[in-house]
Amino acid sequence: MSKVLIIGAGGVGGVVVHKCSQVPDVFTNIVLASRTPSKCEKIKQQILKRRSANIETAGVDADKTPEVVALIKKHNPKLVINTALPYQDLTIMDACLETGVDYLDTANYEPPGEAKFEYKWQWAYQNKFKERGIMALLGCGFDPGVTNIFCAHAQKNHFDSIRTVDIIDCNAGNHGHAFATNFNPEINIREVTAKGKYWDKGKWVETEPMALHKTFEAPELGPMEIYLMYHEELESLCRNLKGLERIRFWMSFSQNYLTHLKVLQNVGMTGIDPIDFQGQKIIPLQFLKALLPDPASLGPRTKGKTNIGCIIEGVKDGKAKELYVYNVCDHEDAYKETDHQAISYTTGVPAFIGAMMMLQGKWKGQGVFNVEQLNPDPFMGELLVRGLPWIETVSFDT
Ligand code: NDP
Repeated sequence: MSKVLIIGAGGVGGVVVHKCSQVPDVFTNIVLASRTPSKCEKIKQQILKRRSANIETAGVDADKTPEVVALIKKHNPKLVINTALPYQDLTIMDACLETGVDYLDTANYEPPGEAKFEYKWQWAYQNKFKERGIMALLGCGFDPGVTNIFCAHAQKNHFDSIRTVDIIDCNAGNHGHAFATNFNPEINIREVTAKGKYWDKGKWVETEPMALHKTFEAPELGPMEIYLMYHEELESLCRNLKGLERIRFWMSFSQNYLTHLKVLQNVGMTGIDPIDFQGQKIIPLQFLKALLPDPASLGPRTKGKTNIGCIIEGVKDGKAKELYVYNVCDHEDAYKETDHQAISYTTGVPAFIGAMMMLQGKWKGQGVFNVEQLNPDPFMGELLVRGLPWIETVSFDT
């Protein structure tokens, strides 16, 4: 018997509930709670149309630890899966500490008033989780998440030492809107308007937003223009990969997306400081979010594929070696299976697999973990059969 509590009924939460309901022998009971209870109920009804499942729904404001504590005490889950926003990470972790329940999330904490994500806030919980005898698994989506697992797999099964890693996230999906973001617009725009940063020989090198770019031939997608960005997995991977000299993260953007973003930035619509508007304080980025299409509504209209993977160079048995490991996910196939497009799917499936690893005891520990610190093999095996098959190509320098 394993009951899970999933907090956050957006695109990612929806996929997690769908996938958990496909494995009832592990996820015997599911509680889905979010700020807007009707969104939980909608997901529940979508699933019940496909199969029977033990799903309960509830309302919760996860910014308030006592509300989350009360919800956990009422339902007594084995694990809390956080698919709300990064702003709720610490309040939910506090509730897990108080109740002694394991925790999993897909994005690292970011203070609402400062567009800066860093693991320091969550890593600071290491001793508290250890002393309480519970486990927190951080960043178990695709990137971060599967990209970290790909690196752990490379380190364990392919290399004696890894020299460089390039994580490449390409999306050739088309939703037909002039401008929309594929996941929460506020989080997405904060991320892409930040300065770029990569790790090189023990130091962080900062770049202007979107300043470094190149064309990448993505398998099954074709040529994609990819841009160097800072991304949270760089912070943990540069600590956890042996011999690493350089790690960078690249993401594809269409010219149309970048032009819209530039105009929005130029007129101040992406700002996070409150402004006065007709006697009220509003945050421009939150107002913009209210105007943009809800990412969950993109599912039925998005066509095309994503390709996310890692190009890893290093040394094996004294020889220079390169590994390219990636997954291709089709937006329409993801929608057919889970009522959500591939960005939510590629995030929700790894969160579900991570939860399964923890509930089955294949991943266990006391304290706070990034996914690359755990055995990648069972997770890589599950990816193959749970909707995110990966492909790898290897070449040796002769
Ligand atoms: P959505 O905005 O679609 O969903 C977020 C959900 O959380 C909404 O249902 C929202 O409720 C709920 N929520 C927000 N605040 C609270 C609160 N205080 N209490 C309770 N519920 C709350 O986002 P996504 O599903 O697209 O993304 C979810 C998470 O996944 C984000 O943290 C995002 O950063 C992460 N992510 C990770 C990726 C990865 O690969 N690692 C990739 C993509 C996303 P309401 O509907 O009422 O607003």
